[in-house]
Amino acid sequence: MKLLLSVEEAQARILALAAPLAPENIPFTDAVGRFLSKDVTALRDQPAAALSAMDGYAIRFEDLPGPWSITGEVAAGAMPSRAIGAREAMRIFTGAMLPPGADTVVVQEDVAEAGAALVLTGEGPAARGKHVRARAGDFAAGTCLLAAGARLTPGAIAAAIMAGAPAAAVGRRPRVAILTTGDELVPPGHPLGVGQIPDSNGAMLAAMLKEEAAEVGLPLHAPDDRTLIANVLRDLARHHDVIVTIGGASVGDHDHIQGALAGAGGSVDFWKVAMRPGKPLVAGTIGTAALLGLPGNPASAFVTATLFLLPLVRHLAGARAPLPLVRQAPLAAPLAAGGERRDYLRARLDADGLTPFASQDSGQTVPLAAANALVIREPRAPARAPLESADYIAIA
Ligand code: AMP
Ligand code: MG
Repeated sequence: MKLLLSVEEAQARILALAAPLAPENIPFTDAVGRFLSKDVTALRDQPAAALSAMDGYAIRFEDLPGPWSITGEVAAGAMPSRAIGAREAMRIFTGAMLPPGADTVVVQEDVAEAGAALVLTGEGPAARGKHVRARAGDFAAGTCLLAAGARLTPGAIAAAIMAGAPAAAVGRRPRVAILTTGDELVPPGHPLGVGQIPDSNGAMLAAMLKEEAAEVGLPLHAPDDRTLIANVLRDLARHHDVIVTIGGASVGDHDHIQGALAGAGGSVDFWKVAMRPGKPLVAGTIGTAALLGLPGNPASAFVTATLFLLPLVRHLAGARAPLPLVRQAPLAAPLAAGGERRDYLRARLDADGLTPFASQDSGQTVPLAAANALVIREPRAPARAPLESADYIAIA
C-alpha cells in the first residue's frame, strides 16, 4: 500500500468504500438538497397552450394601431369563450390562455376603454407575439430537464413539479454517526478539569453535515480506550451507513482508531495524504458501514471533513458530482510560496478578493470562525501578488 496519497487519490478511494443507497420517493416539500435517483423527463408541455404574460388585451398584431371592439374577457384557468376576429380585442390577464386568432397582447397601461371600444394611448407592442408565452416555451414533453445525480435546489424542485413528476425520486439519506475520541475532551459547556478542553469538533461536524442530505445522530464521545472504542464502533455499524471518528487517527500510543477498527472486525486502510492541514486519515469499512477517521485538530478535522466526509455522504445520497467545487478569485493580499504539501489555507473572500490568514495553526478555532474560503496552494507554488488569481473552495 502506498502511504502518501494525493488528495484526489484519497477522494477516489473514499468514494469507492460504499455504493449509493437505494432510491425512494418522497414529497417535494422534503426534497431540497437531496439527489435525483433518475432523470426528470417532462410529461407535458409547459405552458400547455399560448398564455398571456401580462394583464392587458389580446389582439391581432396586424390590427395595430386599433381601435378595437372588446368582445369579452379571459382569466387564468379559464377557456376563452370565442376566437378573436379582425379589429377585435379580448380583455386578458396574466397566465390566461390566448383566444384563437390572437397573437399579441397589448398591456393595459397602453390602452384606454371608451365604452365597448378600445383605443391605443401608449406605444403598444413592438412586435408580433409580444407579451405572449408560447406553447412549450419553458419545455416540451419528452425533454430531459434534470439529470440523475443532480441536487434538488428550490429551482430544480419547481421545474420537476412543473414537468409533472408526482414525487421526488431521490437516493436515501445516509445515516451518519459522529464519534469523538480523547481523554482530554469534555462536552460543550461542562466544567473543565486540569488538562481538559471542550469537545468542539463533534458539534462542528454535526453542523457541517446539517446542510447535507444526511441523517445525523447527536455526536458521541469515547475515551482513549481501544476495547471500548471497538465496542462502540461495532454497535454503531449496525445502524449507520457512515461512521466518522475524530481524533486518535494517527499511530501514537494514545491513537486507537486503527486498532479499534481492526479489533471490531473492520477492514482498515491508513493513509497519509499529501496536504496541510490534515495528517493521517483512517478509512475502512465495518459491516456495511464506511468508516472515516479524521485527525483531531479543529482545522484538520474541518478541512478533511470538507474534502472527504462531505463528498462520501453526498456520494451515498446519490450525488453525481460529490466533490467540492474549486473556484478562482483574485488575491486581495500576497500569497507566500508553497511548501512540500498542498495547502488548504483558511481565508476570507470579500468584494476585494481572497485574504489568506496570517495564522494557519491547525489547532486554532478563531481563523476557522473567520474563514469563508479555503485557498488551495500547490506544493512549491511560487509566491503570488495581489490581483493574481488563486483557487479556493467556498466553505460558508
Ligand atoms: P489527535 O488527533 O487525537 O491526536 O488530536 C489532535 C489535537 O486535537 C489534540 O490537541 C486534541 O486535544 C485535539 N482534539 C481532538 N479531538 C478534538 C475535539 N473533538 N474537539 C476539539 N479538539 C480536539
Ligand atoms: Mg487524541
